[in-house]
Amino acid sequence: MLVSQDRSMAPLDADLCWQAVVGRDAGQDGAFLYGVLTTGVFCRPSCGARTPKRENVRFYRTAGEAERDGLRACLRCKPLETAGMRARMLALVRYIEQNAGESLTLVHLGRQAGMSPAHLQRTFKAVVGVSPKQYLDNCRLRGFKASLREGEGDVTGAIFDAGFGSLSRLYEKVDTQLGMTPMEYRAGGRGLEITYAVSRTALGLLLLGATDRGLCFLQFGDEESELVEKLRAEYPGAALRAMPEPPPESFSAWMAALNRHLEGQAPDLRLPVHVRGTAFQMKVWRYLQSIPAGAVESYQEVAQGIGQPTAARAVARACASNVVALAIPCHRVIRGSGELGGYRWGLDRKRVLLDQERTQAAASAIT
Ligand SMILES: [Zn+2]
Repeated sequence: MLVSQDRSMAPLDADLCWQAVVGRDAGQDGAFLYGVLTTGVFCRPSCGARTPKRENVRFYRTAGEAERDGLRACLRCKPLETAGMRARMLALVRYIEQNAGESLTLVHLGRQAGMSPAHLQRTFKAVVGVSPKQYLDNCRLRGFKASLREGEGDVTGAIFDAGFGSLSRLYEKVDTQLGMTPMEYRAGGRGLEITYAVSRTALGLLLLGATDRGLCFLQFGDEESELVEKLRAEYPGAALRAMPEPPPESFSAWMAALNRHLEGQAPDLRLPVHVRGTAFQMKVWRYLQSIPAGAVESYQEVAQGIGQPTAARAVARACASNVVALAIPCHRVIRGSGELGGYRWGLDRKRVLLDQERTQAAASAIT
């Protein structure tokens, strides 16, 4: 046996793990996972993807550890999907959906799944992408929206029917609701309809993609076809369509806000964002939205800000995997040394954006 199959806490032997990765050794699937820091993805040893460079690889015993490092499951080898566990978690997902109006505890859910609360918490998160509590909140939020759509008109009633218990608890959830539901996330956007348009800006071509709930893609590029390919790669399961003429009202409003922002007339860009990400990425992205225009923070400061002071490198990777430029202002995070660090859309653009924001902030402080 190459790598120990037991789940003891003994550290993984990195050399043996690496041999298994190079050899795509299916016999080691389940014994460990490897993460590729440059792509932000983690894989089973047997994954058919191109063998990464050794220096970019890290080894993990569990998917949970890889996710805590800001990595996400490879779409090719699907490392989270051990058949039995996945079936149990999906059954639990259905149970939560059907009983979202009840008061559900982790102990209760654990009993349903035949697992201890702590084991359930970890497994659910590894398979579904969020904790049972977050999933439950999502269901309640959807239930709330649905009962409003059905035209009851009774907001208070809908809040209680959805299991929120109070108005303030609902708004807490709405405010922090940045992400797609876990199922949307796992399905690569399947079932979503994404409308997109490309416009010419001072910083180059900008492709804006949106679902009916908000922006899901906002990226700079040089060629329209290349930008559309990137959109497709990010949401392989979604139906894409070019913006109809005239564009829907919400879309025109978002575009106008963006243009004002890029022309320097509206420093704070507050657009609804509808993106997919791991729980860790979501946390980082939400935090970035709290950094005001004109300010910058280091990766380390962001890590401290989200209460995970040792996660500066994972923060940098979460910044690099942001798919909505500007609306999640990852350009406001730089190196502790004051160097600009990286930017997915090129350092020149980062420099222009920061200079522009600094100048505006200084000007508005004076007047
Ligand atoms: Zn893989």
